[in-house]
Amino acid sequence: MSHHQTLLDISKKHLWLPFTQMKDYEENPLIIESGEGIKVKDTEGNEYYDGFSSVWLNVHGHRKEELNHAIKEQLNKIAHSTLLGMTNIPATELSEKIIQIAPKGLSRVFYSDSGATAVEIAIKMAFQYWQNIGKSGKQKIISLENGYHGDTIGAISVGSVELFHKIYKPLMFHSFKTPYPYVYRHESGDPDICREECLENLKSLLQNHHHECAGLIVEPMMQGAGGMISMPKGFLSKVRQLCSEYNVLLICDEVATGFGRTGKMFACNHEEVTPDIMTIGKGLTGGYLPVAATLTSEEIYQAFYADYHEMKTFFHGHSYTGNQLGCAVALENLKLFEKDKIVESVAEKSTFVSERLHELKELEHVGDIRQIGFMAGIELVADKRTKQPFEAAERMGYHVTLKMREHGMLSRPMGDVLVFMPPLVSQKQDLQAMIDIMKASIEEVTMKDEVVL
Ligand SMILES: *Cc1c(COP(=O)(O)O)cnc(C)c1O
Repeated sequence: MSHHQTLLDISKKHLWLPFTQMKDYEENPLIIESGEGIKVKDTEGNEYYDGFSSVWLNVHGHRKEELNHAIKEQLNKIAHSTLLGMTNIPATELSEKIIQIAPKGLSRVFYSDSGATAVEIAIKMAFQYWQNIGKSGKQKIISLENGYHGDTIGAISVGSVELFHKIYKPLMFHSFKTPYPYVYRHESGDPDICREECLENLKSLLQNHHHECAGLIVEPMMQGAGGMISMPKGFLSKVRQLCSEYNVLLICDEVATGFGRTGKMFACNHEEVTPDIMTIGKGLTGGYLPVAATLTSEEIYQAFYADYHEMKTFFHGHSYTGNQLGCAVALENLKLFEKDKIVESVAEKSTFVSERLHELKELEHVGDIRQIGFMAGIELVADKRTKQPFEAAERMGYHVTLKMREHGMLSRPMGDVLVFMPPLVSQKQDLQAMIDIMKASIEEVTMKDEVVL
């Protein structure tokens, strides 16, 4: 039996994959063996464009010389020691580098190991901040409808992607939800009307409940897992203003949007917003190792700083918090951002992506295209004029993405929204090739379906 076949058998017998119906996996299994640049290779020797950056992580491509080297160097010193009550060299140096590039006003870095844990930490910090300064009534979190912040219980409590979260409702804590400006699905279809209506809703929620609200959490500029939904201009800065006005901490979840993804270092930079708390993850290590962080302002930090017996300590931590290998590769990642001018290059190539994606709009079943930098969603619909979605049972997004795999490109859709999130170093000819694959796959799958019907 070939090695590939052996691995296949083992994977079917013992593995349980995240966000995956294993019956689907069994029908269309895939085992990655290696990666090089913006492509990955499977155990049968097929190559694929990493069209979703291995789920929104990758920046400089796979097997990047400098990143590999940084890990090896660190490995010669130590792989891991704890951050509980002590620190280490790369975690310390990285905290300074992160604050240098973060929105002005953030000054503290609290590490963890995934986006979801960074969000848990943000929620607990926001909650405890008000407890520590004697305003114990402020306990609730406000979140945006359709938002996504990770899969742990706290993170899903402030998330609201129905499909993922519905079944766990009895486990979740209550949070206030406020409408998100989804322009394409708003009855007016007008960004200004849609934005103002959502802001009105938020304002009245704040008027009625600000005294019981600790914070508001939002994915700045673009909701990711909720379906790649971009905000109309001016929404984020207005949310910032309302939070300040009503004394509610603004938590920006930059786990997906951070590190150049949207053509700015952070999505908050698009509207010159500084959150009170910010979560980062995914691109922080260039897509190499699981490091995440929660950043806060000095004001929040100071509310926890006291003599021990005052019981203001933030009692939270994870085994691998501040892991040296992870922080070492994150440091090298940030050096490469500067050296290779990654953010500037995404901003520059963004126009090209936008023009090329626009050509997909001509396809009969492409309803909407939403893109900021290298973060894009293509919403497929059954009827373009009425915006009528496909029947969920048809799993159109899923089938188009499988077709893309046949054509040599990996991605993962959200329902019928196709995802295009290539590694930030992708060059124009590769971007073009990936968009061509998406176009062909959409055409082949949606047209074939019509014949069947
Ligand atoms: C991916 C994501 C998370 C969760 O990060 P994990 O590392 O998968 O736990 C949180 N927030 C946003 C906005 C994300 O896109």
